[in-house]
Amino acid sequence: MAVSIKTTRELELMRESGRRLEKVHDEMAKAIRPGISTWEINRIGEAKIRSLGGIPNFLHYNGFPAAICISVNDEVVHGIPSKKRILREGDIVSLDAGMIYKGYHSDAARTHMVGQVSPEVRQLVEETRQCFFEGIKYARAGCHLHDISAAINAHADKFGYGVVRDLVGHGIGTSLHEDPQIPNFRQKSKGIRLRPGMTLAIEPMINMGRPEVCWLDDNWTVVTEDESLSAHYENTVLITDGEPELFTLTQ
Ligand code: MG
Repeated sequence: MAVSIKTTRELELMRESGRRLEKVHDEMAKAIRPGISTWEINRIGEAKIRSLGGIPNFLHYNGFPAAICISVNDEVVHGIPSKKRILREGDIVSLDAGMIYKGYHSDAARTHMVGQVSPEVRQLVEETRQCFFEGIKYARAGCHLHDISAAINAHADKFGYGVVRDLVGHGIGTSLHEDPQIPNFRQKSKGIRLRPGMTLAIEPMINMGRPEVCWLDDNWTVVTEDESLSAHYENTVLITDGEPELFTLTQ
């Protein structure tokens, strides 16, 4: 498995790509409210990507029909935006967005709460985000890839959550999906040794119930098998000798 090490120049472009994608998320976050359709959120996100000089990398990826993956409640990832899908008070909605800027990809996801949600739902959203931060404690040179997986899994276990196994994080750069794959669950092997200049999209997908997922008939939308809620949190991360740099989360 060849994991690319980016040059200083490449990292500058990835930083720019990530910083722009953060702005796309900010723009979409402002629009989240009961009554908005997932189609409208996609429209806002795609317009922002283009206004920042980017290209939506999810649009037409293996035929995906939109720029933003928008997954509501028991939908885990890859939900297709629709004018018929209206957010309601108490829902959670996961927005997964990516863009290409001057040939370099960025990828990030956030789960938002729509209006007031129950304490258990809020906990799922917040602890899924925390899973990412637990994971990146090991996203540094000298650690091994699966240290990240184990830390994410351990944090999810504290709450009895199910860690999705069928989908994983990934390397990122001139392609959206590069080596290595980054599981969010414990591995028997240590995985590769992390080196400065590796860029990784680390993305825990955490279910309130069991970890199993299935695909809807649209062949895209991934849902929890037990219909429990699911949350997703992702950033594009640079491995350094010290603290990891988060390209898609700078403030
Ligand atoms: Mg990703």
